[in-house]
Amino acid sequence: MASIIIPPREGRAVRLARGGHVRVVNSEGAQVVDTWAFHPSDPTEFLSMEHSRVATYKILFEVGDCLVTNRRAPILTIVADRSPGIHDTLYAACDALSYPPGHPNCADNLRAALRDFGLTPAVVPCPWNLFEHAAIVGGRYLRDEPSAARAGDYVELRAEMDCILVCSACPSTGYGISGDGPTRGARIDQI
Ligand SMILES: [Zn+2]
Repeated sequence: MASIIIPPREGRAVRLARGGHVRVVNSEGAQVVDTWAFHPSDPTEFLSMEHSRVATYKILFEVGDCLVTNRRAPILTIVADRSPGIHDTLYAACDALSYPPGHPNCADNLRAALRDFGLTPAVVPCPWNLFEHAAIVGGRYLRDEPSAARAGDYVELRAEMDCILVCSACPSTGYGISGDGPTRGARIDQI
């Protein structure tokens, strides 16, 4: 098993072959992990939250769901979820405009991680915000709740096509989404 450590406030990418399994691990608990997946040679095709929501008829995906790209191609299946099972699909990634100048952010983490694979995304797609609990109130409103993920919780995914998976340990300390105190890291285990 190969592990990739994602330090706090940073992002990392890994190439997955079709059929490969990976676990995104909340190594210390309560950490939101913004997650994307891209076609390995064409970054205009990527895991799409809006296409996956209509493919599953769900706002929150669960074990057995097959998520799709913006070209409606299967890209990731949720094989296991050892977490409270709440993974926001609605919020944009934090970016440079979210913070004072120079603050790390998920959008820049995504670009940096993809650069290592020679890819430049034309846009920052809506991330799949693993372990993030954006509560849907009254069928209309959103309210930030702290991540309920415990240390060691993970989501296991199977690649349905060759792809580059990118995960960012969200640097946000606002709104309490990753609990109190400094943000933590995460880990990608290839199994
Ligand atoms: Zn973020």
